[in-house]
Amino acid sequence: ITSNLKTIRSVPLKLNGKPPKVLEVRGEVFMTKSGFEKLNEKRKAEGEEPFANPRNAAAGSLKMLDPKVVAERPLGVFLYGLGEVSEGVPPTQLKVLDWLEQLGFPTTEMIWTGRMHGDLVAAINELDEVRQELDYETDGAVIKLNQLTLRDQCGATAKAPRWAIAYKYAAEQAETVLRDITIQVGRTGSLTPVAELEPVSVAGSTVSRATLHNEEEIQRKDVRIGDTVVIEKAGEIIPAVVRVVTDKRRKGAKAYVLPKECPECSTVATKLDEDVVWRCANPDCPAQARGRLEHYCARGAMDIEGGGEVLVRQLIERGLADNIGELYKLTLGEVASLERMADKSAQNFLDGLDASKERDLWRLVFGLGILHVGTGVAKALCRRYKDMDQLMDATEEDLVAIDDVGDVIAQSVHQW
Ligand SMILES: [Zn+2]
Repeated sequence: ITSNLKTIRSVPLKLNGKPPKVLEVRGEVFMTKSGFEKLNEKRKAEGEEPFANPRNAAAGSLKMLDPKVVAERPLGVFLYGLGEVSEGVPPTQLKVLDWLEQLGFPTTEMIWTGRMHGDLVAAINELDEVRQELDYETDGAVIKLNQLTLRDQCGATAKAPRWAIAYKYAAEQAETVLRDITIQVGRTGSLTPVAELEPVSVAGSTVSRATLHNEEEIQRKDVRIGDTVVIEKAGEIIPAVVRVVTDKRRKGAKAYVLPKECPECSTVATKLDEDVVWRCANPDCPAQARGRLEHYCARGAMDIEGGGEVLVRQLIERGLADNIGELYKLTLGEVASLERMADKSAQNFLDGLDASKERDLWRLVFGLGILHVGTGVAKALCRRYKDMDQLMDATEEDLVAIDDVGDVIAQSVHQW
């Protein structure tokens, strides 16, 4: 990561003054909102998947293998903490920041100091007022003890220091009109109702879709097409419909009935009694196949650059690949023949597939999309089994014996 960090323009390659022999600084890399917009426009123009938000884009950029590409990303950094330092540590947080700045590091811009509870509240409210104007996303404040010696006295719990705490701002809400309800088919066949909204600006981004979760939620909130609704968005979380403004309901609006068939393949939907989710039970459903491939390629799973919605949809529509195994048989000619796919991005995708063969086993196990197997369970399975053959040979009893693996998970893994 060092060579990537060095490409961030605000990271000094040489320090000013007399730095100590050993100096470990801590901070956070971010992507500016304006830079993020430009980067996404460029990616879309080149047929690449846009990033979901600046935070993902920044994290993804730092993991890239080619520092030259990282250098083109609009990244910034704030340094605000110290690790190991051989000599000359200042006595307070404020002085640490001054010192870092003198040495040439970019430090946190928005800082308040106070002694009383009221000072804290005032600072938090002030930041809340200005944070939308900042060119980077922020969803909260960090409150720290200024005196470093007092921090030592406070110590830490098993999870976190006692001398610092994070404050998160409440999710932002907005009112808009629900134009329609569509059904999204997940990789497990789940049918999720989605609110199609009159576009509205919330928490710095334009929102035109929000999740309605499931049929029970729609009934509980009595959401109807044409209603004026309150939506909520917090940080990276998917926007959700919170409630209906019933005063504004138009006359004759009918209660919504969830269609009981898959919108993609028309298979009749099924639901287990204990479940709230209706599912398409057709294993060949194209929407599920797309979801499985996208999940496999996702950053949290096999992390295959370029394997997003746009590419995956075309692979399936053209019959080039409808399962994970077939991805690895794709040729450059096939991928480059897809719309909005230049030779270079096609090659990047194939290189990404090749690199995925070296990923940790838990990423593969998670990427397969086995029902109930999240990253935590995938890691637990891979601590016990060192290769896929061992895992495939495991019985349900073997699996249940693993920490974090219960009956339902064991059955699901074994069946798969
Ligand atoms: Zn279907």
